[in-house]
Amino acid sequence: MQVATGKSILNGIAIGPLRIHKRAEMKISMTSALTPEKELARFKEARLKAQEQLGKLYEKALEKVGEDNAAIFEIHQMLLDDVDYTDAVKNVIETQNATAEYAVTATGDSFAAAFAALEDAYMRARSVDIKDISHRVVNVLLGSGDAQMPDGQPAILVADDLTPSETVQLDRSKILGFITRHGSSNSHTAILARTMNIPALVGVDFDESWDGRLAVLDGYNSRVYIEPTAGLLSAMEEKRKGHLKQEALLQGLKRKPNVTLDGREIKVYANTGNVEDVGLALQNDAQGIGLFRSEFLYLDSEDYPTEDQQFAIYKRVVETMAGKKVIIRTLDIGADKQADYFNLDKEENPALGYRAIRICLTRRDVFKQQLRAILRASAFGTVSIMFPMVISVREVRDAKEILEECRAELQAEGAAMGRVEVGIMVETPAAVMIADELAEEVEFFSLGTNDLTQYTLAIDRQNPKLDTFYDPHHPAVLRMIRQTVEAGHRHNCWVGICGELGADQTLTETFLRMGLDELSVSPAAVLPLRKLIRSLDLGQEAKKTFE
Ligand code: PEP
Ligand code: MG
Repeated sequence: MQVATGKSILNGIAIGPLRIHKRAEMKISMTSALTPEKELARFKEARLKAQEQLGKLYEKALEKVGEDNAAIFEIHQMLLDDVDYTDAVKNVIETQNATAEYAVTATGDSFAAAFAALEDAYMRARSVDIKDISHRVVNVLLGSGDAQMPDGQPAILVADDLTPSETVQLDRSKILGFITRHGSSNSHTAILARTMNIPALVGVDFDESWDGRLAVLDGYNSRVYIEPTAGLLSAMEEKRKGHLKQEALLQGLKRKPNVTLDGREIKVYANTGNVEDVGLALQNDAQGIGLFRSEFLYLDSEDYPTEDQQFAIYKRVVETMAGKKVIIRTLDIGADKQADYFNLDKEENPALGYRAIRICLTRRDVFKQQLRAILRASAFGTVSIMFPMVISVREVRDAKEILEECRAELQAEGAAMGRVEVGIMVETPAAVMIADELAEEVEFFSLGTNDLTQYTLAIDRQNPKLDTFYDPHHPAVLRMIRQTVEAGHRHNCWVGICGELGADQTLTETFLRMGLDELSVSPAAVLPLRKLIRSLDLGQEAKKTFE
């Protein structure tokens, strides 16, 4: 058995023979027997034809992967119209007396190389899109038609790279999964594969000898096993069956509203602790991200992440969610989450110490860097900001003032921004007690029941000895949740839960009766929770307040 690793873009399992896919070699002659005018005319005509193909591909993608994901082919159409790109092609034709196909290939390669060299991972991934449109035009010029994907017996496709247009044309009954040498987990190819539910690994170093051999692609562990042992094969078959069960649940629920039998609606969002979780959120059909724990950006870093580094990540997340809401929690560091470069003092009671919004309001430079990055990312989707560990109206006003200062600065710099909803985490008893006043300041509350339980019950959530005492079902905690919902609703402020309690199915009905508007849970908990919600019937009791 041979094992290779890569980067998984979907948690699925594929079992079947590997099939190496090679694109047909294109014979491209450099110099033209025609005049540059004629070559320019060929380019113009081919570009129009390519635009037409992209229009058809968009329609196809619309059916397969929905409007937001199909948008990549509109972007391809725009790239094909880009003046820099078309001027560069024309320039090669005119100055080198080159064929149109040579000029398009040369321009495509140099633009793709320029994108590939960029620091921003998102922009780097765009190099594939440039290659894709250039291939398309060359195919038209050489009369090879649209790229054809292999068919035949179902197999795991192995290729150097796959373009978005090749990916969207993959036939799910023939392609069990795919493995590529190049590509990133945030490319459009990856996004499309996720949406089409194709298990895939990128960044795998393969060789020709793989062709035709039996393999297991394990997207959960980012591994491919070539000629697996009998034991591994049967374990993987089992795992695949479990995955298919979950899958069936997903298919039954996809795009269906989260309404109880008697018509009460509640949003189910996903909590994410890193960028990989964002893919999982989509894969589990979460309606949005209810908690993006931004601190991982700081904890995974040796030094303060710069505004641009943060912007690149937020933008990628927001774009991946394609219009669905992304609630970014601002830095919640301190207590159990420490980064050396912050040089935080050792504290007697870190959970009650210098953390979260308290650091942000005293380290304005760090806070502003993050807020600016989030505001810039808001131009690319639907973004909300949420402040953690709030205990007073003053803190919220100060945080909002800094946010407005950042907005004004960015406006003056000409940066694009979208509307950003502002909310807070309600995770201290103080916030619950003044929820009426806080609700006047913000548009939403998200209950952080992990900390709310800790502070309400005076129990350190980090101390395993206290596990038997840590009771999130304690009436004090449940009453706090109810009070928060009621106060929020009195002031037109929606209320959700993003703490672990949100996924506790023994309380789902209680939460619905309390009137919670949203539950944000780990990606894996989204579908089972939605299934439960759709089976509940609150009947006439729905209007009753929780006691
Ligand atoms: C919470 O406190 O409930 C919460 C969601 O935040 P964290 O667990 O990150 O403190
Ligand atoms: Mg918390």
